[in-house]
Amino acid sequence: MQKIIESPLFRQQAYIDGAWVDADGGASFAVTDPATGETLGRVPDLGAAETRRAIAAAEAAWPAWRKRLAKERAALLRRWFELILAHADELALLMTTEQGKPLAEAKGEVIYGASFVEWFAEEAKRAGGEVIPTSGADRRLFAIRQPVGVCAMITPWNFPAAMITRKAAPALAAGCTVVIKPAEQTPFTALALAALAEQAGIPRGVLNVLTGDPVAIGGELTANPVVRKLSFTGSTEVGRLLMAQCAPTIKKLSLELGGNAPFIVFDDADLDAAVEGALASKYRNAGQTCVCANRMLVQAGVYERFTNRLAEAMAGFRVGRGVDEGVNVGPLIDEAAIAKVEELVADAVAKGARAVAGGARHALGGNFYQPTVLADVTPAMRVAREEIFGPVAPIFRFEDEAEAIRLANDTEYGLAAYFYARDVGRIFRVAEELEYGMVGVNAGILANEVSPFGGIKQSGLGREGSTHGIDEYLEIKALHIAGI
Ligand code: ADP
Repeated sequence: MQKIIESPLFRQQAYIDGAWVDADGGASFAVTDPATGETLGRVPDLGAAETRRAIAAAEAAWPAWRKRLAKERAALLRRWFELILAHADELALLMTTEQGKPLAEAKGEVIYGASFVEWFAEEAKRAGGEVIPTSGADRRLFAIRQPVGVCAMITPWNFPAAMITRKAAPALAAGCTVVIKPAEQTPFTALALAALAEQAGIPRGVLNVLTGDPVAIGGELTANPVVRKLSFTGSTEVGRLLMAQCAPTIKKLSLELGGNAPFIVFDDADLDAAVEGALASKYRNAGQTCVCANRMLVQAGVYERFTNRLAEAMAGFRVGRGVDEGVNVGPLIDEAAIAKVEELVADAVAKGARAVAGGARHALGGNFYQPTVLADVTPAMRVAREEIFGPVAPIFRFEDEAEAIRLANDTEYGLAAYFYARDVGRIFRVAEELEYGMVGVNAGILANEVSPFGGIKQSGLGREGSTHGIDEYLEIKALHIAGI
């Protein structure tokens, strides 16, 4: 803990209009280490008044920022990218301490998060428009792309760095200014990123970070007519609420919400690869990602073998504090998360599921839960419908391809899906039938900066990363020039 407090990136103030500030009345709240329950520090408990000031600062900064050459914005983003990489170890330690994930994963996230800044620094220069074949001899038609304006961003605690850069980098590249509200559990990583943005020379007001009451800050961000767009990553429940709050001012929206990812293993799969993919997909971040496999659907012919192999492979996992050497699974974020996982496992076991590995809290106590494999899981159990967000793999059985697709699509969510198969015809058929925004075929990890990330159905709107990510922060304007 001492090490993070000594870091110049450890900030206990919010960042508004290029200044490090406290709440108007001095109120603050504590941030704790989920591995130990220890208080790490305090951050300002801001509300609507400070949010209005941040929005006004972003509005004031916008005209100059949008008029900068794309190349100039790109250079500043590039500098921010380099500073993030240069401080990767410090950022990773900060992240592990407030979020819990193992240090190596935290560093992986910092590098992944930085990749969006690099990518969109490059994309900034390519956000051109179109020359449209004309509709009349005296007329010329163009579509130009312009920044949306002031953008609000509300981000979750499971990826404290990457969920910020994946939104802020394309917005800044496009020429928008931003007001970010990180999750109350993980403000220090967000503030450290702001400190590095400041150091990179991103002008005052262009990027603001608010800590504090989600309802008060979110209320202002969604109601204020100056904010032209909201980008949110979090639960479907809160996404729905924010979408409704944005309705009166018709804000543009990007929503990256919950998932209920199926992970399908067909009889013809390479089982070694499937087990490896399942481990990576399920237990990363202790199962706390929106693209984590939530339902393992395994064909009858390989059911027992896959289940036993997965349970065996997990025996090599080490649960513990993320800062400790060799740990693969850290704590869950808080007591509520542990209680939810416990409830879901109890419901499954009461309805006939078998715990073939784990199945209870870890002997370490606190927020630690044992990596768990449940066999004989059926659609009647709550784990079939609800996002687990913990290190629990429920394994369902299916007989044929049609049943696998029906089970996989039987959810209101549509974020990520995975399947393992080798028959090339099956690969195309299943990939096309799955109602998901992202499909991993013989791949358990999908996220990178070059590929579009996002969901369909009630998993959200819009795409992040890739060449499409910047479109979310650009408006198209048609120019009709007549009298030629
Ligand atoms: P999770 O269950 O992963 O914590 P949430 O959707 O509750 O997901 O939180 C994601 C983000 O949304 C966090 O930054 C949180 O503070 C914020 N948030 C939660 N409730 C509200 C709300 N009513 N208005 C605005 N933001 C909210």
